[in-house]
Amino acid sequence: MKKAILLSSVALSLLFGACGNSSTTKATFEPCDTTKLKTGEAYYQCAMHPEVNSCKPGNCPKCGEMELDKKVKI
Ligand SMILES: [Zn+2]
Repeated sequence: MKKAILLSSVALSLLFGACGNSSTTKATFEPCDTTKLKTGEAYYQCAMHPEVNSCKPGNCPKCGEMELDKKVKI
């Protein structure tokens, strides 16, 4: 179990570390808790990373240049 946690944290740090030039995109990224959204409210999600949800349009902090898709809470 401990090994899995260690591995995932290493993978996460690798993901974030790989995006050295993501500091400019980070400014526009505002994490959004979609579970707190009401029906019909819009949020922005990365096509590659469903866990990346932003309240504002912008780029995915993980991909760097991948633009977030507009989604509507159902
Ligand atoms: Zn992404």
